[in-house]
Amino acid sequence: EIWLRQGDPTIHYSIPTTPVAKNPVLDQIALYDSPEFISKFTYTGNDLGVTYTKKATTLRVWAPTATAVNVVTYKESNSPYSSGKLTPMKYDVKGTWVATLKGDQDGTVFNYRVQVNGFNNEAVDPYVRATTVNGLRGVIVDLSSTNPKGWGMTKPRFSGKPTDAIIYELHVRDLSMDASSGYPAAQKGKYVAFTNTKTSHNGEKTGVAAIKDLGVTHVELLPIFDFATVDENNPTFNWGYDPQNYNVPEGSYSADPTNPKLRITELKSAILSLHKQGLRINMDAVYNHVSNASSFSQNLIVPNYFFRRDDNGNLTSGSGCGNDVASERPMVRKFIVDSVKYWANEYNMDGFRFDLMGLMDIKTINEITTALNKIDPTILVIGEGWNMGTLPANQRANQLNIQKLNRVSHFNDQIRDGVKGSVFDSADTGFATGKPGSRNDVMAGIVGNVDYSTSISTKWVTSYPGQSVNYVESHDNMTLVDKIKASVKDAKPSDIAQLSQFSTSIAFLSQGLPFMQAGQEFLRSKNGDTNSYKSSDAINSLKWDTRKSNMATVNYYKGLIALRKAHPAFRMTTTEQVKSNLKFSNSPDGTIVYTLNGAAVKDKAATIVVIHNANVAEQSISLPKSGSWSVLVDNGKAGVSVIRKVTGDTLKVAGRATVVLTQ
Ligand code: CA
Repeated sequence: EIWLRQGDPTIHYSIPTTPVAKNPVLDQIALYDSPEFISKFTYTGNDLGVTYTKKATTLRVWAPTATAVNVVTYKESNSPYSSGKLTPMKYDVKGTWVATLKGDQDGTVFNYRVQVNGFNNEAVDPYVRATTVNGLRGVIVDLSSTNPKGWGMTKPRFSGKPTDAIIYELHVRDLSMDASSGYPAAQKGKYVAFTNTKTSHNGEKTGVAAIKDLGVTHVELLPIFDFATVDENNPTFNWGYDPQNYNVPEGSYSADPTNPKLRITELKSAILSLHKQGLRINMDAVYNHVSNASSFSQNLIVPNYFFRRDDNGNLTSGSGCGNDVASERPMVRKFIVDSVKYWANEYNMDGFRFDLMGLMDIKTINEITTALNKIDPTILVIGEGWNMGTLPANQRANQLNIQKLNRVSHFNDQIRDGVKGSVFDSADTGFATGKPGSRNDVMAGIVGNVDYSTSISTKWVTSYPGQSVNYVESHDNMTLVDKIKASVKDAKPSDIAQLSQFSTSIAFLSQGLPFMQAGQEFLRSKNGDTNSYKSSDAINSLKWDTRKSNMATVNYYKGLIALRKAHPAFRMTTTEQVKSNLKFSNSPDGTIVYTLNGAAVKDKAATIVVIHNANVAEQSISLPKSGSWSVLVDNGKAGVSVIRKVTGDTLKVAGRATVVLTQ
């Protein structure tokens, strides 16, 4: 008898990796995709996984092709597999198997043992909410006992309009690992650091206190679900885009990953703390691929159902990670929708960022946003809508189909690369860094990639400006500063700061949803690292002492954010508003000038003029009308207060700088 278990390096899995003449994998997939199978085995109940009460726990697992399923329970998290106690599950409805364990099972360690495809597989419950360290066994928990004191507090106020958000993307470890973070050793790299809101270094705020000070509305965390690569007993840095258990918090960020409940409480405490600071919290959701397809729990229970295959029966890899989740299959779709709902309900999550959303199917994404809207209509959904993968073109939840996606925003690579150059070519420049030819790509982003007019060529077209996530830096690729260093010849430190401010002002003053990476505001560098997913903490961590030395740039970012929040003219919500109230004027080469009709969108400023001068030299710019103007943004300064007043119908604008005027 052969037992297959996740994490066992000696086992041979049930997926052949090379095509055979009569392909059993393709036969099995044809069965799964047949109308008969779908009608007979699509389960719609809301009780997959663990249903806990103090008197009994019921377990339900979807295993339509299994010939027998047992629950195996263990005395301890590390009890030998041979010591497991078997409880047979009964076949119930629609391919599901059910067993009830009597008594209070809070803390019980369990897995499923499934006879399927001629193998005996042992797998973690795919729906499981708690696990042992490193996630190879599930744990039944009484979730009500995991809530920290004060849990259930309402979220910080937010309209739910994506254009009202400013997202700050952050990795859990990066917040606190550096010596200058101000966090004590016990909090470094952990969820608990988020509950410490009073850190500083040399008299300047660091960590959560500094993020709050910046004025962003949402903190978006890189993966916090359980991922596979990092040994939770001995953590090292990893971004975490390698999902293992979708509904369990990652253990390496816990003070004690061997305590299955603690990480749940710690993550909830982190969320509660950010909410108390007025910050909303979004999570990175990676439903497009898993760490290891063969040993993924769902694959051991329903072999070959969870992933896409090519015509030869091989796993596809549009994700570049060795597998693509088949979101279009009904029970995969249900799993994903249920998982997202769980995070929104149990963890009070305020938003989701879908990794490689373009690989997923439109129907799944729309079911997700419909479900989230019922839970809380202010939850944000953004995603990477790159056009990739093997689904038919009209089913992909990507930029080209964004008009079929309800309440979803996509990262805008047109303005990103338009401003600073291609992320795939370090030396390439953009409009801000010396390539006037990229002007159109920047203008597309300025209007939020709406259908503005034939004068602007948009690579993808949004239904409303909030669908465009406008940014010039994220965790992927070089930081903005590293990109500037790699592409702008002889850039002095003062030039780098100026180009960071200039590039970001273009993105943040555009119509849409502004997004930044943590530390961008103090000129974060990863020493030119273009893919730091498993680089050291020394490369990745936020160097909070550099915040103090770059305080002028921090204040500039802070000013841009305050300006955006104070003026609805930067936050128009419809295509019609943008078309009617944002007008570009003729201006010299290397410049973009546009006027916002503030009065039309209830802005306190009747007219706002934005001037971006990408030339190294000062330029004389014609204003749309004469009169007295208040300057709110000028070279090196940004905010809501008047820097100075100017009169007339022309203005000299410094090189590589943005000016904002109001009247
Ligand atoms: Ca893990």
